[in-house]
Formats: sequence, structure tokens, C-alpha cells
Amino acid sequence: MPRIRQDNVTAAQWSTNGGALGSPDLTVAGNEVFGANVFGTAAQRQRLPKHVFKALQTALAKGEALDTSLADSVAQAMKGWALERGATHYTHWFQPLTGMTAEKHDSFYGPTGEGTAIAEFSGKELIQGEPDASSFPTGGIRATFEARGYTAWDPTSPAFILENPNGALLCIPTAFVSWTGEALDTKIPLLRSMDALSKAAIRALRLLGDEDAARVFTTVGPEQEYFLIDEQYYYERPDLVTTGRTLFGAKPPKGHELDEHYFGSIPERILACMMETERELFKLAVPVKTRHNEVAPNQYELAPVFENSNVGSDHQQLTMQLLQNIARRYGLVCLLHEKPFAGVNGSGKHNNWSMGTDSGDNLLEPGDTPHENIKFLFFCSAVIKAVDRHQALLRASVANVGQDHRLGANEAPPAIISIFLGGELERVFDAIVSGEAASSSDNDFLGLGTPVLPPLPLHGGDRNRTSPFAFTGNKFEFRTLGASSSLGLPNTVLNTIAAEAIDELSDALEAKIGDGESEIEAVIEVVKEVYNEHRRIIFSGDNYTEEWEVEAQSRGLENLRSTPDALPWLVEEQTVGVMGRYGVLSERELKARFEVSVEQYFVKLNIESETASAIARTMLLPAAVRHLNELLVSGREGLIDEFAPFVADFHTAILGLEQANEDPGLEGMELAHYMRDTVIPAMTAVREVADRLEKLVADNLWPLPKYSEILFIK
Ligand code: ADP
Ligand code: MG
Repeated sequence: MPRIRQDNVTAAQWSTNGGALGSPDLTVAGNEVFGANVFGTAAQRQRLPKHVFKALQTALAKGEALDTSLADSVAQAMKGWALERGATHYTHWFQPLTGMTAEKHDSFYGPTGEGTAIAEFSGKELIQGEPDASSFPTGGIRATFEARGYTAWDPTSPAFILENPNGALLCIPTAFVSWTGEALDTKIPLLRSMDALSKAAIRALRLLGDEDAARVFTTVGPEQEYFLIDEQYYYERPDLVTTGRTLFGAKPPKGHELDEHYFGSIPERILACMMETERELFKLAVPVKTRHNEVAPNQYELAPVFENSNVGSDHQQLTMQLLQNIARRYGLVCLLHEKPFAGVNGSGKHNNWSMGTDSGDNLLEPGDTPHENIKFLFFCSAVIKAVDRHQALLRASVANVGQDHRLGANEAPPAIISIFLGGELERVFDAIVSGEAASSSDNDFLGLGTPVLPPLPLHGGDRNRTSPFAFTGNKFEFRTLGASSSLGLPNTVLNTIAAEAIDELSDALEAKIGDGESEIEAVIEVVKEVYNEHRRIIFSGDNYTEEWEVEAQSRGLENLRSTPDALPWLVEEQTVGVMGRYGVLSERELKARFEVSVEQYFVKLNIESETASAIARTMLLPAAVRHLNELLVSGREGLIDEFAPFVADFHTAILGLEQANEDPGLEGMELAHYMRDTVIPAMTAVREVADRLEKLVADNLWPLPKYSEILFIK
């Protein structure tokens, strides 16, 4: 059926759907819903026997396992709490290697043998589950004939209740392992990496004279970008439904040239949707903090207050899930694809990362005393060293098919990893390296002649938006993640490579102190050595320019443009070395991740190319032919001569794509390269003609909603 403008009018309609209406005013004390659906510390204190509560808290604080004999008691309390909230089922909620979450629901109720049922949920069921896991990707770790996989309770991430209009579900965050003990998920390596970093950082802190801290936690605060579009357009576009992005679509007359959307006032329907999403996230104790319009039309961003990396990663998964669920209540669809619209800014996720002690110190925050600043410079140098050495691994940790449209495409940081320190901090490092005190009197961060550090005058406001890895005052912001990324792998990598560098710096420090140097002198020397060796990774200019690409190459920095270029770094020797030494991922576990990522790459591309070919053949070509027929009937030679060649070109391009889509008989990396080098160009060729046709064919014959509609009707 041809499109009529009335469709757009219908799409623009919305109602509050009752969801957010009549909900309590959050500004009124007592109406606070924060954490209401979480079996967190407050609920635990209330419901657990005192000794169990204490044992659990101690285990959590020390990062140790809970004595299994106490599990029954915890399960009992958790069940009571969940039943009161209407839960009928529970699930071990885990994160397989697809990067998404998985759940299999079990009823609390078991038969009694007397024809009735009672609610059952024991410590055993809390601690361990055994889903039939044969269909999760494992990268060869587990053959289907030995399909057992176990889920194991993660007590460090609190259980929560997911509500549905028709019931509720208790979700128990869990790890997912093979029966041979290998990690089949993103949580286990993340937890292992947090332990590794804690050990290394505590050792360093002792050398630096800190006797208080017992544990160091890495923290994460992810800024999530996303699109909200009307669901009518979504369901009218098979490409969006099947692949999450538009495979066709001409650039609209109005894009983001006017810059009117960024930080603009938020349309009412969108704000209503955001508010309800945030309310639901609050119930789950996800501390959502900021919301705003992003650069592209219909693009938005949401960011929480940072949390420890494990809880923060779980919360980030919930955020993505709820954004998508709740959008539907407002007749919207939330797109988390990295590049839903060609020629329009894509969506990323900024991974703000730091390290903090259990005594409340942020190790990446400059302080007020020389001593605090010595500590800061030490840990900051470790990060510089780690990022320089493992730049390619960091790039690989965020590689996926959607990212290839973004990285290096003048809207997101390039595929080259570099660090932005900011002018002030860079001057501090320069002064340390040159051995000079600061020459300017107003800004003398080094005392005259002596390496004593008064307050570092650093401002988080010193920004470089184009840098992939920027210091922002009290944390580093890793900006290369894609909107759909799980936080698991990138943070696992960051924590582990930081642990390695911290240990190496500690070794050097220990040696120098052993040689009789003062602590401050020794740190300054270590910092100097690191900075001299790894300076090439520091870049404060515009990362989007071609000059930087050239310069980065001369500095010997990696520029891994596509996913198949980056992924092999997951199994490079130096990766296997560091991940193995710190007990984070074994070679087999790394191989598994590599294989799953390669497979995801070619499978997703294959879905895209089949979808593109079907849409071109069965929707767009017929529209073009109809238009040609109308021209032929009109007898307008000029118009016919102008238009007919496009139809012929389109047909040729479609035949090319269909041929590229035939099974090339390749596997693994070879298939990935085939997809990148043969299939993508064939898709691009079809799209190029299609996007021209979109601007030529009669509007009422064109079967797909256009960018000018999808992106501008709110
Ligand atoms: P901007 O857009 O300027 O980068 P936002 O306020 O949108 O700033 O986001 C900053 C993010 O950084 C928030 O998610 C915040 O929680 C996070 N953050 C702040 N401090 C830390 C920290 N110590 N560790 C990790 N993340 C942090
Ligand atoms: Mg940011």
C-alpha cells in the first residue's frame, strides 16, 4: 500500500499510557522508590539473622566467597522478600558471550505430593543453577554433547525483581561457567580482573605509605547514547527490525547542521518516556543521574552515578533492557545500534573508569597535599603505560560490526587509541621529565628545585571531545565503546593491564627505595621513566584529522580500522601473557572469545546482506519499475531517458549482491575477511543506487519511511 502523509500524523500521536500517571512524586520524602526492588544491604539487614548478615557483609567487603552453609538462610530470606513483591518465579540472570543477558525462569512452587504446591527455594537453588546451555556460543570450549554449563550466584551484585504488567520475577545475578571451570560469560573475567587490580594497587599503596586501604575497587560510570524513534516507522522497515540499522535511506535535507538538537529542550513524549525509564531504574537501584538530547535528531543520552565495575556493568545491562522495554509503552522504539542511520551521528558509550579504595580515596584524583599527588602521579603513569602497551587489545575489546561504521568516521574517536591528559597535567609530566620546576610563578606545581608537589591545579573542564581515552579530572574516560557494547570485556582489559603496569611500577619503586632514595624522589623517577618511554600515546590535538592518522603512524601507534583487523589481538602473545599471568582469562578462554566475536561479525553481516538483498529486490526495485512504467505511460522521453539507466544500474547491483551472498565455502577469519572485502562493497553498491532512486521515485510509490520522517517526527 502506498504511503500517505496521514501515516506520519498517526505516528506522532502518543498517550502517557497510564504508566507514569499517578506515580508518586519522587521529590516528596517517603515516596522514594530507590532500590525498592533490590535485595540490597537494607533488605538484607532487615531479613537475615544477624550472624548471617554479618558474615555476608564481611565476605563482600573482603571480596571473598560466602560460607555455603549460610546460603539456605539467605535463600529463605530472599524468597520471602520476593514473594511479598509478587514474584512467582526466579531466574539466574547471566551474561553469555553474546554480550546480552540470559535468563531461564523457574517457578518457586514445587508439588507437595498431596496435589498442592508450596514455594520452594533453597540455598542450593540460590547458589547454583544448571540451565540447558547448549545453545550459547562458547567458542569451542564446550561441545554440545557435554552441554553442561553452570550458573553460580554472585553475591556482590544484589538480587532484584523485574516487574511485568502480569507478574514479577526474582533475578539472581550469576556467573556462567563450563563444567570444566572455564568462564562462559563476561562477569567472571571482570570479577577476576577486579581482584587482580586490587592486589596490585594495595601492594603499591603500601609502598606509598598507605596502611589503611584493604581493597581497591575499580569504578565505572557509563554514558549511554541511544535513539528513540516512532514504532510505526520501525515496524515499516524490515532492515531496522532485522538488523537494528537502516540499510537504505538518503540523507535528509535537514541533518544536524543546525545544531539545534544538542542539549535542546526534550520533547514531551520523550521526556515522559525517560522519566518512566528512570523511575523503573531507580527501583532497581540504578543511580541514573543525567539525561539530555544528543547531537543527532532523535538521539539522547543517559548517565548514572558511577559504581563498582561489577555492579555498574550489571546495571548497564539493565539500563539497556529497560530503555528498550519502556520505550514501547510510549509508542517508541529505542535503537542501541552503533550506527542506525548513515550520514547521521551514531551512538557510543563513554566508559568512565577509575580506581577507588575502600577507605574512600579515588586513586586518579589529584589531591591537596604533595603526598596525595605523588600517589596520583604514580597511578596515572601506570595507566599511561598500560594503555600504550595494550592499545591494540583495548581497541579489540570494543570491536563489533556496528563499530566499524563509527570509529574513524569523523564523529567518534578514531580507531587509533591515544590519551588526552589536558594541558595542565601534561605540563606537570613535562616538568618532571625535564627535571625543571615550573617556570611560571602562578602555576608552580613543582616547588623550586625540590621535587615537592603542592596542589595540582587540575580542572576537569579541560576537555578534548575527540580523544578516545581522556583524563577528565578524577577518572579516565574510555570513549571508544559502542552503544550496544557490554561493559564486561573493555573493563576486564582495563583492570588487568592496569594491574600489570602498577606491579611493574611497584617493582621499580621498590628497587629505588631499596637503593636509599626517598619515597618522593623514587616516585618522581619512576614517573619520569614511564613518561619518557610511553609519551607517544599522549595526544592532545584533534583526533578526527587526517594529519593525526599520519602522525600516529609515524609514532608507531596501531590503527586497526575494522573488526577483523582488531580481533586477532584478543589472542596475541602479549594478551595471552598478561591475561594468563593475572589469572583473568586463560588462553582457551581468550580463544573462545575470539572465535565467538569473529562468528558474530560474519553472521551479523550475513543477516544484513541477505536483508539488503531482499529489500532491494522485493520492495525497492518494484517501486522503481512502477515509477518507470508511469513515465513510459506519460511518454515523456526526457524523463524516461534520465530515469531508466538507474533502474538498469540497480538491477546490476542487486545481481552483484546476490552473487556475493552465495556461500563462499569459507570459515572463521577467512569468512570475516570475505564479508568485509566482498559483501560489504556489494551492499554499498546497491545502497548507492537505492539512495539515488529514493530521491527520484514518486514519493507515494517509495515503500520505506524516509530519514526525514523517522528522525524528525517525535
Ligand atoms: P560528561 O558528559 O561531561 O562526560 P557526564 O556527567 O555526562 O559528563 O558523565 C560523567 C560520568 O562519569 C558519570 O557517569 C559519572 O558517574 C562518571 N564518573 C564520575 N566519577 C567517576 C569515577 N571516579 N569513576 C568512574 N566513573 C566516574
Ligand atoms: Mg563523557
